[in-house]
Amino acid sequence: MSEENIPSRSNFITEIIDQHLENGRFTNVHTRFPPEPNGYLHIGHAKSICLNFGIARDYGGLTNLRFDDTNPITEEVEYVESIQDDIRWLGFDWEDRLYFASDYFAQMYDYALQLIKLGKAFVCDLNVDELRHYRGTLTEPGKNSPYRERSIEENLDLFQRMKAGEFQEGSHTLRAKIDMASPNLNLRDPVLYRILHAHHHRTGDEWCIYPMYDYAHALSDSIEGITHSICTLEFEDHRPLYDWCLQTLGIFHSQQIEFARLNLTHTVMSKRKLLQLVREGHVSSWNDPRMPTLSGMRRRGYTPEAIRTFADIIGVAKAHSNVDMELLEHVLRDDLNARARRVMVVVEPLKVIIGNYPSDKEETFDVPYFPSSRALDDSPTRQVPFSREIFIERSDFMEEPPSKFYRLAPGREVRLMNAYYITCTDVVKDANGEVVELHCTYDPESRGGMSPDERKVRGTLHWVSARHAINAELRLYDTLFTLPNPFDVPDDGDFMDNINPNSLQVVTDAKLEPVLAEAVVGEFFQFMRQGYFCLDSVDSQAGAPVFNRSISLVDTWAKMQQNR
Ligand code: ATP
Ligand code: MG
Repeated sequence: MSEENIPSRSNFITEIIDQHLENGRFTNVHTRFPPEPNGYLHIGHAKSICLNFGIARDYGGLTNLRFDDTNPITEEVEYVESIQDDIRWLGFDWEDRLYFASDYFAQMYDYALQLIKLGKAFVCDLNVDELRHYRGTLTEPGKNSPYRERSIEENLDLFQRMKAGEFQEGSHTLRAKIDMASPNLNLRDPVLYRILHAHHHRTGDEWCIYPMYDYAHALSDSIEGITHSICTLEFEDHRPLYDWCLQTLGIFHSQQIEFARLNLTHTVMSKRKLLQLVREGHVSSWNDPRMPTLSGMRRRGYTPEAIRTFADIIGVAKAHSNVDMELLEHVLRDDLNARARRVMVVVEPLKVIIGNYPSDKEETFDVPYFPSSRALDDSPTRQVPFSREIFIERSDFMEEPPSKFYRLAPGREVRLMNAYYITCTDVVKDANGEVVELHCTYDPESRGGMSPDERKVRGTLHWVSARHAINAELRLYDTLFTLPNPFDVPDDGDFMDNINPNSLQVVTDAKLEPVLAEAVVGEFFQFMRQGYFCLDSVDSQAGAPVFNRSISLVDTWAKMQQNR
């Protein structure tokens, strides 16, 4: 291992790998990411992707992408494609090593024949209920199947006939012959093959027997020469079976290593539950910006860098934990703060008429995209037009302001960011007493928002010239679930009861400065004082832009840390 290949971050997994490299069990590092194509990838998968690809990179090794497509019933081509898009977007490359477990069906079948010939597998005629009954429980040993002692010849014949499609679903299984008294239920003669008369998205109708996960996974790892098969903790009890398969067959023996899966507060992470959210219409689709899917997060304005940083910060552990959503948002905010151009957008507009500004006059200010503290000599700027009628934020005006309110009020002077000082002279209301318009005057000497004398104003407001404004829809998001743990429900309750009815707020008539007409998907903006936004990749149309709020400006994570 060369100097630059020393892992950036050591953890219990890299310690195991270091040992293997030292004691000669392995001379290389080869990992895999093995998604089942039954849904879109979520942030939990991102943790696994970063881990598998990151470790291989750190050790100068390789990572395969392998679709674990052994269950023909729930899998779809749509998912195969989205998964690849998402991994590439996240910044990882499997080069020419794209594999499918289904590519190995023939080889796995041959291995099963070998197990039968070794007397280590048998065809069992028990049905699902009987299998469960014979299996025993955690406290009681199981019972041997009455078919356990079939001859090798009979087993070979029956298994071949299973493959040939002679039997109905559920009538026969191929089982490993291990130990029905094992304290580990996974070793009680586990099923290796079942009959499924189902169409497979790649192998079509070629097969009607399908290998079970544990068997298929161990063999796929071995076939590909995977040295370290990193998976989540729920497979810890399956490792003895994983090892049994490889040992019994005497083939290349990958090392399975388990780590704790990522759980995030205020959301759910299982594909089945995410699918339920889509199917029941709680969200618009898998890539709804509220979803913890990578496609949803990308649409929301998450960057691959932010997600990779997050994966790095949370690290890997053996113990289950729940990571605060606020940490993920904090990392995103940090990343966007560094890259997002600052622009002015009025979310809830209130018209301001500047009485002493000529109605036919227009001027533009050359305004840097980044704050002055960061502005370099070649800092990019844009032209911001100004005219007699502008919009300000409705919440930036109060007719009877409390003492701490420093923004606009009758008779008060404030600064329009980068423009002029204005003073409110008159308030226009409708029949219901609602403020509909403000009349102001401006000080021509304060051009650029500079004080013309020693006069100080406390408030600085963002604004948009009414004549030049672009109308847009803004989508403001909140968490999908109200509780940190959505599964915190009474016995008869359902996690869906904790869904947040206000997770999406739509603003239909926001006013944007004109430069945003050129915004494209993949650009990031800070709408000053409002948050980070990006153009929606699905619903935006020319002349009718839709912007998603990626995240607000308030760092709730920092606040949480202070309060701890
Ligand atoms: P889900 O429960 O969401 O359906 P899964 O484990 O069934 O997830 P797979 O497609 O089988 O999904 O997972 C591919 C890889 O991603 C596996 O190695 C799995 O361990 C890992 N993975 C899945 N969810 C998480 C998570 N929340 N945190 C870390 N790794 C995960
Ligand atoms: Mg799975």
